[in-house]
Amino acid sequence: MDLNLDAFKSIVFLTGAGISAESGLNTFRNSNGLWEQHRMEDVATPEAFIKDPQLVWRFYSMRRLQAAAAEPNLAHKALVKFAETRKHNVSLITQNVDVLHHRADQLDHLPPICMHGSLNQSRCTHCGVVYFDDYAYFNLKGDYAPQSTILCNASEKASIDYLHHYKLDYKNFLPLSPCCKAEIRPHIVWFGEIPLQMSKIDKLLNEADLFVSIGTSGSVYPAAGFLQTAKSHGARTVCINIEEIPQSKWIDEFIQGPASVKVPEFFKSSQVY
Ligand SMILES: [Zn+2]
Repeated sequence: MDLNLDAFKSIVFLTGAGISAESGLNTFRNSNGLWEQHRMEDVATPEAFIKDPQLVWRFYSMRRLQAAAAEPNLAHKALVKFAETRKHNVSLITQNVDVLHHRADQLDHLPPICMHGSLNQSRCTHCGVVYFDDYAYFNLKGDYAPQSTILCNASEKASIDYLHHYKLDYKNFLPLSPCCKAEIRPHIVWFGEIPLQMSKIDKLLNEADLFVSIGTSGSVYPAAGFLQTAKSHGARTVCINIEEIPQSKWIDEFIQGPASVKVPEFFKSSQVY
């Protein structure tokens, strides 16, 4: 395929779990989606947090530690390199909470819209203020052992929004927010909650003249509907994925293979660098 990417005025990328699979992140598929005998739906809901915030924070502490042990791969890096050369009118929407896009992009060339939240943020349950927070409060054995991970970059840690700049009060081993002295929760969209920044995303999809979906299975809505939305507003659509996805009729070009190989190839064949 030889698309001339310079010809497009507004390019929107969407990424899903497939772009991070080659970074070694455990997707729970090997354990039937269970974590310590809990279904995801039982540790990633507002109800679970009310019932047992420590259990939920043990789960998210583990996920922060796992994310910190993973590294951005060639697909994450190729997107940043493209944004650097292109400078404007490139947007990135991600379903991933793993912060690998941020870590591939220390200079903020392509800040992602994290529609499902991100593991390096927490928020006050009372007023909704969002803080950078890259602490794992529990270790992998489940013991209380607060430790910084590497999920926040230096400028985030230097900002006034970095939670651990404050002298924090604790309740049941978990920090209380500096703003309201209320419990903090992971800034993650849980089951039954509405994804973030949807109006901004809608606008991008309506305006895009090229939409590229990378590593999304096409099974999680609303993101699974983005190909159709972009296509019906006139965008050309490309899908890069390891296997075919159900939305084939909305895809102009399907590129099959692992993201870390196919994403750099896509930019090379489009002669952008
Ligand atoms: Zn607050």
